Amino acid sequence: MTFDHLVRQVREGRLWTRGTPRVAIIGAGISGLAAYRAMLSEGILPIVLEQCHEAGGVWSILPHFTTYDGLIQNTSARQMALDGLAVPRPRHGDHFSREEYASYVHAYSESIYSRTRIFKGCKVQSIAREPDGATLAVRRFRSPQSELVAFEVDHVIYAGGSLHTPYLDPIPGIEKFRGLRVHSTDLGAFPSHGENMESHISLHSWPEYEYAAIDIFTCGRSDPHVALDYLRNALRPSRVEVHELLRGISPTGNASLKTGAIKTEHSPLTGA
Ligand SMILES: Cc1cc2nc3c(=O)[nH]c(=O)nc-3n(C[C@H](O)[C@H](O)[C@H](O)COP(=O)(O)OP(=O)(O)OC[C@H]3O[C@@H](n4cnc5c(N)ncnc54)[C@H](O)[C@@H]3O)c2cc1C
Repeated sequence: MTFDHLVRQVREGRLWTRGTPRVAIIGAGISGLAAYRAMLSEGILPIVLEQCHEAGGVWSILPHFTTYDGLIQNTSARQMALDGLAVPRPRHGDHFSREEYASYVHAYSESIYSRTRIFKGCKVQSIAREPDGATLAVRRFRSPQSELVAFEVDHVIYAGGSLHTPYLDPIPGIEKFRGLRVHSTDLGAFPSHGENMESHISLHSWPEYEYAAIDIFTCGRSDPHVALDYLRNALRPSRVEVHELLRGISPTGNASLKTGAIKTEHSPLTGA
């Protein structure tokens, strides 16, 4: 079901079954799908509003910016089973790959239980509390100018996850950077070769852990310590760990590849 179906059903008064509570679940990741299934078993027929064009959230068959094709789950297949559909046997060991689990979740969302009540491409824009429930305003996904459809519900279950909106750091000075800036949201879109032929810096940050891992890759005679000193001053970290690697040079100076750690420095910075 799509945004257009939702609009039509609201206008024609066909969204709800008379006599049962009107429940809207926001998000069709595995939490939303599990909530939906649990409600069905109580005799309630909720609707699920999913902003993307597929259900599954992190485990959608669509590429997701936090997961990647080679990912193997850290929980066992048995633990990842959803109520009402047996999990297949993983191809390797007890754990699913991303692709295997995404197919399973897709099959689950397409199953008889939920297909007609999941509205995809529907982003919940706002929820307004009312004396007896709430009013939801929903718009077409990725169409900020799209019309809003508003309707009342008795209960709302929020299953929107926490990883659906990429966080883009406001990096000071980024407007002057002329190189290629890649974020994990570009996963899959990153060119395999050709773009980063020269010296470059990549920064991987985990703001929630106040941690950043920075690779300074220099070619020719450029000195990586200039960049390192600059970053130390700009970021003022409380602790720095530096691993220096010499690559691409053999002991004889020929072009055969050699990789080795030639220096490791641990420098706690106090008073930063
Ligand atoms: C790399 C990685 C590996 C992981 N590995 C494991 C693992 O091995 N085992 C495990 O148990 N967990 C793992 N997780 C955790 C994973 O987040 C959970 O397994 C699970 O997918 C969370 O499901 P969810 O439904 O709560 O959220 P999500 O999967 O994020 O789903 C939320 C859904 O809500 C939708 N949504 C959000 N806001 C709105 C809105 N306003 N309107 C409409 N729709 C909206 C989103 O589009 C999304 O589809 C992993 C996570 C990551 C990132």
